[in-house]
Amino acid sequence: MTQILDGKTGAAEIRAETAASARAMAEAGARPPQLVAVLVGEDPASQVYVGSKVKGCAEVGMLSRTLRLSAETSEDELLALLDDLNADDAVDGILVQLPLPKQIHEKRVLDRIDPDKDVDGFHPVNVGRLWLDEDGLTPATPTGIVALLKRNGIKLSGQRAVIVGRSAIVGKPMAGLLLRESCTVTVCHSRTVDLPAVTRQADILVAAIGRPGMIGPEHVRDGAVVIDVGMSRLADGAEIERLYPGDADRRRQFETKGYTLVGDVDYTHVAPKASWITPVPGGVGPLTVAMVIANTLKASRRRQGLPAVP
Ligand code: NDP
Repeated sequence: MTQILDGKTGAAEIRAETAASARAMAEAGARPPQLVAVLVGEDPASQVYVGSKVKGCAEVGMLSRTLRLSAETSEDELLALLDDLNADDAVDGILVQLPLPKQIHEKRVLDRIDPDKDVDGFHPVNVGRLWLDEDGLTPATPTGIVALLKRNGIKLSGQRAVIVGRSAIVGKPMAGLLLRESCTVTVCHSRTVDLPAVTRQADILVAAIGRPGMIGPEHVRDGAVVIDVGMSRLADGAEIERLYPGDADRRRQFETKGYTLVGDVDYTHVAPKASWITPVPGGVGPLTVAMVIANTLKASRRRQGLPAVP
């Protein structure tokens, strides 16, 4: 029988644990963890993402604030701000929301963040730490996925994991984290030959592609655990009906908003084959925000010389 990997519940548990740890830190007289999010420009989606992380920190009893800069901000101005935040001892986590305006070079900016405050885990030093099995900050989405698998008692050691997608923010760190858990890991991408033959090997299949419903039943072996990272706005009524036949909620969402949010997995046709599967929405998405908050706590504990929370 297929079981749902419920990201909302997982995220709520992670938040509750983060809140308990933040409380314990305060009771022990430690400095409260603080996240600073930097938002350049007025992109509405970025405002929502940043807002949920900053609000999430406040809800678990941590300090958080957003620095809003105009879309005309120069790269030098942003780098100078990051230097100030790096030097500020009360700041534990720095998050620069992407995308940045075109006059700013994203990589130069992300590389300027102190790796010990890099709660997104994108800095080359943290990438290196992940692959060298050293303690560091790891990207929120794949870290959340490992947490969700473990919380649901899903066996990882010795399992064959296949990841579709090799981005720096999801696919590659997912591979590193699953390797850490002693999975046997394969990473696929757009040049992979005979993708279904490779993905059918998977005990654990992670789809991080950005192509609505691309992973069908022919990609999945019976009993696999299927993790759908994809998050796309699908605005094609016929395709929505093919992927979610008779789904009145999705149809209504399409009619009112002009799109419905879908993952990379053809959920309707894959779910019956899977042992566990994440829905979209309500699967991987909520974990990402929870893990950024948990990473801020982790960064603060590390910076204050406190032991890691298991
Ligand atoms: P990228 O576009 O950076 O990477 C997509 C990957 O998919 C690439 O490695 C690409 O291969 C691969 N790919 C594309 N087409 C195919 C194909 N036909 N067959 C096999 N592989 C293919 O995307 P991201 O990793 O940033 O994001 C992936 C998805 O996850 C998106 O929908 C995004 O919105 C979502 N996402 C969701 C998050 C959440 O919190 N739920 C967080 C982050 C992302 P190649 O390298 O060869 O081009």
